[in-house]
Amino acid sequence: MHIFFTMLEDIKNVMSSKRLNSDSNTPQAFVQDLKTGKLSEVKIDSNFLFGRAKQSSIVIEELYISRSHSTISYANGQFFLEDNNSFTGTYLNYKKISNVKVQLQNGDLIAYTDRSNTWEYLYKFCLSNSKKKPRLDEENAALKDNKLLKLKINKLQALINELKQENKESIHNARFAMSNVKKLINKSTELNKNLKDKTIELQIQNRELIKKLNISSEQCEKLKESLDTKTAQDEEPIEIFKTQINRLLENDFQCSICNEVMLRASTANCNHTFCESCLNKWLSKSKLCPVCRSIVHNTTYCLALDNYITNLCDILGGTIKEQRTALQRESKYF
Ligand SMILES: [Zn+2]
Ligand SMILES: [Zn+2]
Repeated sequence: MHIFFTMLEDIKNVMSSKRLNSDSNTPQAFVQDLKTGKLSEVKIDSNFLFGRAKQSSIVIEELYISRSHSTISYANGQFFLEDNNSFTGTYLNYKKISNVKVQLQNGDLIAYTDRSNTWEYLYKFCLSNSKKKPRLDEENAALKDNKLLKLKINKLQALINELKQENKESIHNARFAMSNVKKLINKSTELNKNLKDKTIELQIQNRELIKKLNISSEQCEKLKESLDTKTAQDEEPIEIFKTQINRLLENDFQCSICNEVMLRASTANCNHTFCESCLNKWLSKSKLCPVCRSIVHNTTYCLALDNYITNLCDILGGTIKEQRTALQRESKYF
């Protein structure tokens, strides 16, 4: 848009200047601000001044620009650029000029800088070559103006077309992007729906599983109850059995010397059986059996019987078993 207005300004400037000088034989010069595109006419009858001063032809409001920084002057059909002993200098085609006047050519660049390596103020010197051409009458000048205008208008038209094309392209791009976004939205909506369906399905499955779990948990509880009952029922006969064994041990396998269950059962030749240690102790004092009073000639350790009694004690378990194990261990030391 900026270029557009700059070109319009150009057209206006060209028209006004042409009208003024169309019938003159003198060259026409302009200085174009390359930042804004603005054209300023360089008149031949007065100096063209670059500077900070308000009355300058081109005012540059910068502290590093002198009030009267540089001048373009006209003499003998030529334009000259001169630096007015400025502090930061004047640059022609990016080269600093000394204090001599330099002749300006069409397209020369005039620049100013504060040495920060940027060309903030850049101007183009434009020279129209009307001097070389034969004198033009009003008609020719008008024709030329017309041509120039047509050219500018064509350029503008081209610019407008270009802008239109760009606009079309960006609209097309935006539409394309929109359709892509729509597609994505549709896809994600579909995915979302699928996810929802799946979630519902899973919830149903979960509920069913919980139901099943509850049922098996109930069954398990029942099973445990029946098992407990059965165990309680089973315990009773075992207790009875244990009592019977206990009675057996006390009645049939009791040593009649110590009145305890026989340890290392030993049988005398009269067939009476006692603990081995009890019998030995007894025989050291008397040679008669404590039960039948027969003379004892020899004694025999009954391994089978001893093992049998030990096994019965093991079946009973508990204190009886522990006592027997302890006594067996003790008897080994004697
Ligand atoms: Zn005994
Ligand atoms: Zn005896």
